[in-house]
Amino acid sequence: MNNEELWQTVLAQIQFSISRANFATWFKNTKIFSKKNGEVLVLVENSFTKEWLDKKYSSLILKILRSLDSEIKNISFLINDHKKQFSETKNLDISINKEIADSYSLPLKLEVDTKTNLNPCYTFDNFIVGGFNQMAQAASYAISEKPGILYNPLFIYGGVGLGKTHLLQATGNRLKELFPEKRIKYIPCEKFVADIIEAIMQQKIDVFKKEFNNIDILITDDIQFFTGKEKSQEQFFYIFNLLQQGQKQIIISSDASPKAIAGLEERLRSRLEGGMMVDIGIPDLETRMAILKAKANEKNIEFKKEILEYIALNIRSNIRELEGALNKIIFFKRIHNKIPDLETTKQLLRNLFNPPKRKVNFKKIIKTVCDFYDLKEEEFLSTTRRKEIVKPRQIAMYLLREESKESFPSIGRRFKGKDHTTVIYSWSKIDKEIKESEELLSEINLIRQKFYLL
Ligand code: ADP
Ligand code: MG
Repeated sequence: MNNEELWQTVLAQIQFSISRANFATWFKNTKIFSKKNGEVLVLVENSFTKEWLDKKYSSLILKILRSLDSEIKNISFLINDHKKQFSETKNLDISINKEIADSYSLPLKLEVDTKTNLNPCYTFDNFIVGGFNQMAQAASYAISEKPGILYNPLFIYGGVGLGKTHLLQATGNRLKELFPEKRIKYIPCEKFVADIIEAIMQQKIDVFKKEFNNIDILITDDIQFFTGKEKSQEQFFYIFNLLQQGQKQIIISSDASPKAIAGLEERLRSRLEGGMMVDIGIPDLETRMAILKAKANEKNIEFKKEILEYIALNIRSNIRELEGALNKIIFFKRIHNKIPDLETTKQLLRNLFNPPKRKVNFKKIIKTVCDFYDLKEEEFLSTTRRKEIVKPRQIAMYLLREESKESFPSIGRRFKGKDHTTVIYSWSKIDKEIKESEELLSEINLIRQKFYLL
């Protein structure tokens, strides 16, 4: 089977599993560009299609390809425009790598619908739900089915990079799908403010306001930007009232609760508080792992637990940063065609992780280790060689060395004047053991997580 026949067979099968409209939209003018070392490169028309196929259909395509040719391990999409660069010369690898590099270092591209300002990449399907965002997701989802009826306004607040924009956009996208006749407008607060300033300058504030008259669903992102902008708040208040009276749905996000937004007018604050307020918290370790796994899955790549754990332990409160770290190692994998090991991952992500701001110290580490193993600090620090204590003590020495970068002799002195060779022995023993035992690694990571929270 040549490449063309192979692709035709794939398309024929895909046609059965998705709707006609989807098929026509996403698979039109696609073809296999090359098949080499188990990697199939498919040419697509534009970056939007590339991203969509990558996100939504790559696993389906790969599954079909594999059933036809078991050697195939991977699939990537290339934008047809670039085809000219790819002659069958030895430059091929370099140019493809660059192409892949470019696409992987970019965040979700904004292929925005100019009417609604919605980006179809954000959906409920690719929004992962955990304890930290469950309420916000449930409220948004409910609204996407019954706009203007359930909670109005819906106010979602939470820290940077935790999924507010994703959720707002997903809600907008689903509303658009379920209620194609409704007029939806997503507007970041910053843009709202900028538009108002321009309208005021051009003395067209009435035109500006009128634009909002016939909107059915207004989604305003990041309203903390209203801080200190009284004129804009005034206009927003007016629009808000108008829409709310007409039972039009309003969805708002902010980095803090209405009470905590400085310089928010009282009347607007009380309006916001009158609706449904839900916050997005910080995902716990388990959820961060789940997010990383899901995002790697989307790209058909499986990483060892220790790698994902390393990322999840180092990035705690920002999903955008989690994604960024993951993209870096995916990029490495694409270029070198092998999954990085833990050491390489550490190297790759060195610049990404801020060193922990709160310094860990001897006290914290000892306390956490003792709590964890249910030991008395006094005995732990004594010279006893009881078996239940020796191992945790080695772990504490290991952690002291790893986390606080103390010298071996200095660590020794903290343990009733133990010799530095004892500390080195403990450190290397644990270092070796965690490479062999996933269980021990998880245990130690758990302790780590605990003392950073202390
Ligand atoms: P915020 O608006 O709160 O600053 P974003 O919505 O921009 O955060 O999210 C940052 C990145 O993390 C985006 O790429 C988004 O798709 C992703 N993201 C956030 N939350 C989730 C989630 N629950 N599941 C999957 N991806 C998420
Ligand atoms: Mg945002």
